[in-house]
Amino acid sequence: MNILIVDDDIVDRESIIRTLNKSTCEWDFVETESVDEGLAAFAKQKFDVILLDYRMPKRDGIELLLELRNASLEKSIAIIMLSNSEETELALECIKNGAQDFLLKSEVTSSRLQRAILQSKARFELEEKLQSSYQQAKKLAELDSLTGLANRYSFEEALQSSVTKKPRDDSKLALTLFDLDNFKFINDTHGHDIGDQILIQVTQRICNCLRGNEVFARLGGDEFAIILSNLHTIDNVTRVTQRILHCLDEPFNISGIVIKMSASIGIAIYPDNTNTANELLKYADIAMYRAKKLGKNQICYFEDKMQEQFLQRYQVEANLIGAVERNEFILHYQPVFETTTSKVIGFEALIRWNFQNKMHFPDSFIPIAECSRAIIDIGRWVITQAIYQISLWNLRNSKLLSISINLSSIQLADKTLVLFIKSMLEKYHVPAVLVEFELTETALLENSSQAITAIESLSDLGCRIALDDFGSGFSSVSHLQNFPIDTVKIDKSLMLASDQPKTRALVQGLSAMLHSIGLDIVAEGIEDEQSFLLCQALNIQRTQGYFFAKPLDAIDIERQFIV
Ligand code: C2E
Ligand code: CA
Ligand code: CA
Repeated sequence: MNILIVDDDIVDRESIIRTLNKSTCEWDFVETESVDEGLAAFAKQKFDVILLDYRMPKRDGIELLLELRNASLEKSIAIIMLSNSEETELALECIKNGAQDFLLKSEVTSSRLQRAILQSKARFELEEKLQSSYQQAKKLAELDSLTGLANRYSFEEALQSSVTKKPRDDSKLALTLFDLDNFKFINDTHGHDIGDQILIQVTQRICNCLRGNEVFARLGGDEFAIILSNLHTIDNVTRVTQRILHCLDEPFNISGIVIKMSASIGIAIYPDNTNTANELLKYADIAMYRAKKLGKNQICYFEDKMQEQFLQRYQVEANLIGAVERNEFILHYQPVFETTTSKVIGFEALIRWNFQNKMHFPDSFIPIAECSRAIIDIGRWVITQAIYQISLWNLRNSKLLSISINLSSIQLADKTLVLFIKSMLEKYHVPAVLVEFELTETALLENSSQAITAIESLSDLGCRIALDDFGSGFSSVSHLQNFPIDTVKIDKSLMLASDQPKTRALVQGLSAMLHSIGLDIVAEGIEDEQSFLLCQALNIQRTQGYFFAKPLDAIDIERQFIV
């Protein structure tokens, strides 16, 4: 047996070794003089038992006991405390803190110590078994046995602790409660076994909509809860809960029985709605009740303002479907000027949406179109329209004009995008070099092989590639080297602040760097003469902004700029 002796007194150590060597067992000893040395030896080697002196100069034996007992179970070991003190209190304290036995040094004999060691080891092994079955029982008590999800008890604990912890960074937490619509009816008509199978399958489908770091619980019956944390906007909650509703769309097939299932979802937000767990639960419940009352299979926020925001988003999303076919989009064109001559050399196509008798700007619908993939159809419409328009203008204009088209990263994932663009260029006889595609850094950051292939194919086709909004995000120079980029557009936020010395210096530095690697530069957001003069001084080739012209519809462009 391997024995670790931790005792500062050499005479006591020798006496222990001598005593044990008189007994019938085989012993291997490692001697250490202090708690720290003992811990170091323990970390290095496996022992069967520790013989631990209570009284030592720097740290006493109980400290070592505590350190080992607080470490993980598998790092634990049987410990026998040895002391010269006869205090019963001390003996009890040692046992309470996890020692298996307590012996007085004066009473140690070889047979007694051997017995103590063997018994302590056995006792320790029993304790270990007890501990692991306790853990197992705890797990069973915290999990729902049908679905394996957290149960109500552990859900309430988790909710309480997330609310008490208070997120570090102003982030929000959403409590999402939902229950299945008409579940009772299904249980009654098809029986509980089928009902159970539905609950299991619902759980599986919903798990696929989650990232895995959420608390997902079954509160009982057909009622579930999800805690979504680290949120910065409620849009994320909308997205996840919509995904949950959609994942239930497809009917369930249980042993040949086809069953339609939907859910009603109620959401309350911490700390916006309240900062106590109980109220959060109550509010989410009220919201869920409202979702049921409004006709089921839907999402309700507890707070009216959030509900409005959600409905607005929902309405935009729903109305984007088919908007292309209904001809609701139009393109505006913002002229781009050659800096040295102040002459128009091309345009940037910027989309507008005519919806509910109001002109909507892209920031209010493009991000939503990107989530629902409606962006693919919208993007194709923009490409077609912009290429067609520039072909018309180039028939009439004395000099060839170029067109810049914004592409979203989602469009790059479309495998037929490049073929589509090629066919449009051919259809309208537009030379590829006149078409520049603007991409933001986020599109490049995704770094998917499909996106890279698309960008390279566009470049091979002869189109130009521009990196949009440079200087507003990460602005990594490596992107400029790793992708076939021709042009960089300096972000308008920099140009708008270029009267400030620091920003001015930044623009100067950026343009020197971009020139040095041979890239074309466009400055956008030129609103005054001063910014324009700065562009001239820095040899920035192209400029764009309200100083020259706002984005205009095709008729106004023709009137003012096509000659
Ligand atoms: P962007 O590509 O950075 O487009 C420039 C935006 O700045 C446009 O806003 C334009 O109207 C505005 N702008 C132009 N000159 C000035 C100026 O001097 N001062 C100021 N303050 N702003 C100026 P808009 O049209 O609202 O477009 C916003 C964003 O929507 C665009 O930013 C672009 O990222 C996106 N977008 C526009 N059209 C499309 C499209 O067809 N497809 C895609 N995927 N995104 C588009
Ligand atoms: Ca752009
Ligand atoms: Ca831009």
